[in-house]
Amino acid sequence: MKICKTLLILLTLSLAACGAPIVVTLTATAVQIAKATPTLTVAASLLPSATSPVGTATARPSPSPALSLTPQPTATPARTWTLGLSAGGNPIDIYRFGQGPTPIVLIGGIHGGYEWNTILLAYEMIDYFEQSPSEIPSGFSLYIIPAANPDGLATIIGHTGRFSAQELPAGTTAGRFNANGVDLNRNWDCKWQKDAQWQTETISAGSAPFSEPETRLVSDFLTSLPAAAVIWWHSAMPGVFPGGCNDRFPAALALADDYSNGSTYPVQKEFVSYHVTGDASDWLSLQGIPSISVELSTHKDTEFKRNLAGVLSVLQAFVARPTPSVP
Ligand SMILES: [Zn+2]
Repeated sequence: MKICKTLLILLTLSLAACGAPIVVTLTATAVQIAKATPTLTVAASLLPSATSPVGTATARPSPSPALSLTPQPTATPARTWTLGLSAGGNPIDIYRFGQGPTPIVLIGGIHGGYEWNTILLAYEMIDYFEQSPSEIPSGFSLYIIPAANPDGLATIIGHTGRFSAQELPAGTTAGRFNANGVDLNRNWDCKWQKDAQWQTETISAGSAPFSEPETRLVSDFLTSLPAAAVIWWHSAMPGVFPGGCNDRFPAALALADDYSNGSTYPVQKEFVSYHVTGDASDWLSLQGIPSISVELSTHKDTEFKRNLAGVLSVLQAFVARPTPSVP
């Protein structure tokens, strides 16, 4: 960029010395960003505002000042805010990348500190897309909720927000539940029952569907968008599970295939290990929102590269075919 600016200044001086009029017309509707390779075209709204001062080189203002310029791979800070507070009073933070009308949502840590690697994975995704905003196609917004159950994380490590694997104690099972002792992935209104199952244990699904503030906040957010796709990270059993309440939901099956193609986690059309009630993905299917649960291979590794490949595969698939209709 500095080289181009220098050339522009030299060109301007040369033209001025020759007495030539200086007119630079800027009429493109999108901004060309060339990283190393290849050249990409993204919506101007996805770019950091720091690029706009380049337009001051023009001698004639344009009513729609979009530019054609050499790439400036500047990191783009995400917009971040808090959806609300958990049962234990901890914030449920959310990050947004891009400004497009099609929202894709990634969610870690609904099972809190018990599945802490899914929270670290979400933070790794946040860091990645801050550094590589051009990976999000024009027309899309990417939302990331790193910890849907911050109480469960705080139970294990003593705080919420970012953390390192070195902070983890040996036993993390207690971190699965929120401050009310409820399993938040049994609290949604698909086949809900008060006494739910986790492996061989009977666990609390809350006093009613959406009895917990976390599930109310997240479900309201997802349906108000409405999300075009929702990806939940869990651990540990490698596989991609499509949401569907009683009936299969074709859009969720397609989403599972897309994520599997990139990540190489196998698609598992049914969860047969034990009976699951009140599941988030299953409820989302009733709202017409395709959703999948992605189970990482272990409770420790984030398996970032293969999950990034899964997310990018989903984005590319959305670009390639029409967005599933959402009521
Ligand atoms: Zn889980």
